[in-house]
Amino acid sequence: MNAPEDRPAAPGGEEAVIVRYGEISLKGRNRRGFEQMLRDHLAGFLRAHSQPFSVIEIERGRIYIRGCRGVPDLKMVLGVHSYSPALEIERDFGQLKREAARFFPAIRASRDFRVSCQRIAKDFTPDSMGVERELGTLIEENTGTPVRLKDPAFELHVEIGRRRIYLFAGKRRGFGGFPVGSSGRLVSLLSGGIDSPVATFLMMKRGVLPLLLHFAVSEAETAKVRRLRDRLQAFAAGQELKLIVIPREEIFLGKLPGLYGTRFEPYVCVICKYRMHKVASEVARSEGALGVITGDNLAQVASQTLKNLQASRAAAEFPVYSPLIAFEKNETVALAREIGTYDISIAASEGCTPPRDPKTGVDPARLLGVLEKTGLR
Ligand code: ATP
Ligand code: MG
Repeated sequence: MNAPEDRPAAPGGEEAVIVRYGEISLKGRNRRGFEQMLRDHLAGFLRAHSQPFSVIEIERGRIYIRGCRGVPDLKMVLGVHSYSPALEIERDFGQLKREAARFFPAIRASRDFRVSCQRIAKDFTPDSMGVERELGTLIEENTGTPVRLKDPAFELHVEIGRRRIYLFAGKRRGFGGFPVGSSGRLVSLLSGGIDSPVATFLMMKRGVLPLLLHFAVSEAETAKVRRLRDRLQAFAAGQELKLIVIPREEIFLGKLPGLYGTRFEPYVCVICKYRMHKVASEVARSEGALGVITGDNLAQVASQTLKNLQASRAAAEFPVYSPLIAFEKNETVALAREIGTYDISIAASEGCTPPRDPKTGVDPARLLGVLEKTGLR
């Protein structure tokens, strides 16, 4: 990282990135904590990607990354709502009118344009409308490109901050949410499938630092889970995502093979989920986590019934969070593609042996009877 004095200011202006963070600003008294955490995550991300910058400043609902050459992919930093690479100049109207010339080539190449000004700090004259009008006229005269207020081809944004002015032409979308770790820790039941990595991501986006727990069925499946962990790790702002792998046989206390071919075979999947929740609760307790995440979904396949969910969660001693419960499959797939877990999840691997005729509606009392008889309670 370069200290500001290490680098001579670029003549007339510096490159910067404006970062906006939506919801965090609503957090009242915790706001400063969130802002500082997001700033630290941004700094860590830039350093990890060898992206030079001079300083990161928090100012009235914005974070300014100053002296930043090149544009980092800040979408990977959760909590970032949107961001804009910008030109940073002195807080002076004369300077603003001179520096606007840098945008002339792009505006000349556009059908029409407008200037949109926002004063984050109001002690600046002219006011926003005045800036838009004067600058608009000046640009129109110099480029020959006409102003068009509604749906212009090019929109030049002028943001007047407390100490500096920023000029930029577009916004890039982030995922929003909160910095990873700002809400607390949960155990996440991670399979090699499509759903649980997306569920884990959605909770990370709400500020959760997940502790990943996988019940191993095959080596290929576990290798996939490790790749999924690495992908999710990229969103964790440098915090280590721990993965615990337990052989699935172990949660069945070695009794799984003995269930196939008996009257208990149709219950294998529900028993499996019940045992997973039992172990997940133990892990949550020993690790000091506050609940469990699953990729459960309602009714996408025949066994995903409210009854089965209720029965399998009878072993859960902590709240269970399943953010995909009401998602359509295509929504989950779209998000999996966007976060880069989809291709990993769809790779073929050996899974578990499904029982013949699995139960679609096991009630909890019935399950408890089966668990007693099989010694799996
Ligand atoms: P996924 O796509 O996440 O595998 P799924 O649609 O296949 O989910 P299920 O097989 O019913 O649905 O699993 C429901 C949830 O149980 C998973 O989303 C995951 O959270 C958890 N789970 C399933 N298998 C395992 C496993 N081997 N290890 C850890 N958790 C698992
Ligand atoms: Mg699955």
